[in-house]
Amino acid sequence: MTRTYRAVVIGGGVVGCSVLFHLARAGWKDVLLIERSELTSGSSWHAAGGFHTLNGDPNVARLQAYTVSLYEELERISGQSCGLHLTGGVMMADSPERMNFLRMTHARGRTLGMETELITPSEAKAMFPLMDETQFVGALWDPVEGHLDPSGTTHAYAKAAKVLGAEIELRNPVKEITQSPDGMWTLHTQNGPIRCEHVVNAGGLWAREVGRMVGLELPVLAMEHMYLLTEPMPEVIEFNQSTGRELVGVIDFKGEIYTRQERQGILLGTYEKACKPWSPVNTPWDFGHELLAPDLDRIAPSLEVGFRHFPAMERAGIKQVINGPFTFAPDGNPLVGPVQGLTNYWSACAVMAGFSQGGGVGLVLANWMTQGDPGHDVFGMDVSRYGEWATLRYTNAKVRENYSRRFSIRFPNEELPAARPQETTPLYDLMVAQNAVMGVTWGLETPLWFAPSAAEAQDIPSFHRSNDFAHVAREVKATRDSVGVTEIANFAKYEVTGPGAEAWLDHLMTNTMPKAGRLVLTPMLNDNGKLIGDFTIAKASEGRFLIWGSLGASKYHMRWFEQHLPQDGSVTVRRFHMDLVGLSVCGPKARAVLAKLVDTDVSNAAFRFMDFREMDVAAAPCMVNRITYSGDLGYEIWMKPSYQRRVYTAIKAAGAEFGIVDFGMRALLSMRLEKNFPTWFAELRPIYGPYEGAMDRFIKPQKPDFIGRAAAIRERDEGPRRRRVSLVIEAGTADVMADEPIWARVGDTDYGTIGAPHGYGAPRFDAAGAEVAKPDPARDGDWRVVGWVTSGGYAHYVGQSMAQGYLPAALAERGEAGLFEVEIMGERRPARIALEPPFDPQGERMRM
Ligand SMILES: Cc1cc2nc3c(=O)[nH]c(=O)nc-3n(C[C@H](O)[C@H](O)[C@H](O)COP(=O)(O)OP(=O)(O)OC[C@H]3O[C@@H](n4cnc5c(N)ncnc54)[C@H](O)[C@@H]3O)c2cc1C
Repeated sequence: MTRTYRAVVIGGGVVGCSVLFHLARAGWKDVLLIERSELTSGSSWHAAGGFHTLNGDPNVARLQAYTVSLYEELERISGQSCGLHLTGGVMMADSPERMNFLRMTHARGRTLGMETELITPSEAKAMFPLMDETQFVGALWDPVEGHLDPSGTTHAYAKAAKVLGAEIELRNPVKEITQSPDGMWTLHTQNGPIRCEHVVNAGGLWAREVGRMVGLELPVLAMEHMYLLTEPMPEVIEFNQSTGRELVGVIDFKGEIYTRQERQGILLGTYEKACKPWSPVNTPWDFGHELLAPDLDRIAPSLEVGFRHFPAMERAGIKQVINGPFTFAPDGNPLVGPVQGLTNYWSACAVMAGFSQGGGVGLVLANWMTQGDPGHDVFGMDVSRYGEWATLRYTNAKVRENYSRRFSIRFPNEELPAARPQETTPLYDLMVAQNAVMGVTWGLETPLWFAPSAAEAQDIPSFHRSNDFAHVAREVKATRDSVGVTEIANFAKYEVTGPGAEAWLDHLMTNTMPKAGRLVLTPMLNDNGKLIGDFTIAKASEGRFLIWGSLGASKYHMRWFEQHLPQDGSVTVRRFHMDLVGLSVCGPKARAVLAKLVDTDVSNAAFRFMDFREMDVAAAPCMVNRITYSGDLGYEIWMKPSYQRRVYTAIKAAGAEFGIVDFGMRALLSMRLEKNFPTWFAELRPIYGPYEGAMDRFIKPQKPDFIGRAAAIRERDEGPRRRRVSLVIEAGTADVMADEPIWARVGDTDYGTIGAPHGYGAPRFDAAGAEVAKPDPARDGDWRVVGWVTSGGYAHYVGQSMAQGYLPAALAERGEAGLFEVEIMGERRPARIALEPPFDPQGERMRM
């Protein structure tokens, strides 16, 4: 008889075992893990076992901290040792630019309550005496780092899952997956069919193939990766004996090296530039507990730097070189969550740091499956963050780029070149011909700013204001003083039609739906009352609505829409993607430009702020919204791509007499800053409630029902714990990027902190062996870290450095000077809250 389970996890690597454990811990007993061979038959068995907390995405960092804190519980439940060595680790900077990066990482760490510390090269040498400290300018100490036994840890998850009631079946590959009309999945395994409600792809090295079993091409690729193990080294033995301690872990960015103690020797791994994909198209099913042939030539340049930085290593005998494959998504973060377009097919793959991230992945996936919500902000690892443009070859190019840059500095104004251009609009070549510096939004080329000449049309990567500064300033000024035009294809656009469309949208969105010919702005909440979307909605006619949102969240939102569609077919949602493109014309002369191109009355009386019209623009059928993100008089004009060149050319010609300029995304974002407008992904994310996000105007609790209403009312009645604010900063030559801590002079008043201390850190010792007292990273005299920055930059028209971020609600109305500081690259700069938008506080320009 066919066995039936509530959920089956495919893959017995560290990730699959973690998912199984978390499902069982969440109360699902009727769950099975099915493994092709033995546990750890993919990449898990030959991992170097390192773990750490730091990650460029603070939400992913939080989940890494969770993973590390889980190991003690796992050992307790399973009785199986994870072989934990919590040594702490140092990241070494060899240049001032890298030191800036470490300062920034340290400052961001405060936001998370991390206990990192900036230290000198000599202090680092005291913890890892094999280094030549003269090669470095500084270091960052992180106590929450170490290494473990990969196989023991995977088995600990598996045993703990079994203790909690889950089942594991070994030596039984899944060969095919089908779904019956009732939604149940059938896994066709070597030993016969197994039915289940939910299927989890934790196939690791074969995740791509397990995806293909249901017609998916997941953006995941395995890369070869090498580390070497030395014979016992006298320097290591001497350090262990004299201090009674183990060496700490070290990351040497310059050498693309990570290294740590392994027994009495050293383990040293590289992320070499000349990296190599493994099985780029098909992964062989007969690959088992095998290693790949070492290729020392490939890592020779890294070793050369390594030997210079750690001279004792050159004298050490190499005991073994491990070369094994493991998988990456294009941005190096996992692919987790329900797959859009499929019911109950869950992804838990592309986990490149299974021993830092596996616990977090298991936790959020189990939350999602058992409660309908991940319980954390996981967009950084959500499988929906990739669209159809992330094809096999795209993934190949991007994964290689990401691997080779694993230890490279990523500057905030840096756009990476691999796999470009992938998607373009019909204006692409016109924009490039006008010296546009292009960036990428969700695979699409988008103009960022316009240079005066082709030779100058490139960003100089920097943490400081860079070569675009004066040009973006010029674009903003010309637009605000007269008129500018920009491409806005990089919005998501949807059409909702059908007799049930209005009622359905009313149930999904917090705001009331507009009358025909009008627009509304509206957040969307999940059942817990957290922000999961922010849209502009137009009612075109009865039963027909247009929606604009974040392009990067296209699949994320489609997944939600599809999950909530009524079964009776009364509502249809269509995602346009690049079948609808757009142009935004803004500035005080925008109406004069539009009026020359239409036969419709676009006077302020006839075409009001927040109106929507379908009209011909330059003879092309278009939809026009009287609203723009610049916060100025302006229009968003939407058309089929086949008309875009025509409309653009006509706008430029009509605007010539007013000195119309092309402006890019950076100018648009600068203009929204001085209007205190929030952005999706930065200020508005699923960790915030609508009142926390200061979206009060767009929440209509008087509506009888909408998803998240009860939770939103609770948040309003209890008062939000924190609140979104805009800040004006006395910055130097650098503006904020994101995640910088906000300090406040609060003395002993406790407004609540936002950091989540790990409570799990390795002690640090000085050269004499004395334990170094832990600093409180969130306190300094009367000053305390009370909040964090979500985004910011330079507001060019008002000439101020600005940021948005979150503060405890009790501080959010305090507009006085001298109360706040924002830490930008290690320097605390005075800041004050902008209670009103610095540009046009009454919003008269939008309505003029
Ligand atoms: C050399 C090297 C060093 C590394 N160092 C570190 C490190 O220091 N720290 C760290 O965190 N990570 C490290 N990693 C990465 C780490 O190994 C991976 O993140 C982790 O193993 C991913 O685990 P997984 O469960 O996703 O995949 P895998 O370990 O690949 O497991 C997938 C499992 O699924 C099974 N499977 C696949 N298809 C089917 C099917 N159709 N039916 C049944 N079963 C199936 C496979 O047999 C396999 O057992 C390293 C990797 C390598 C190669």
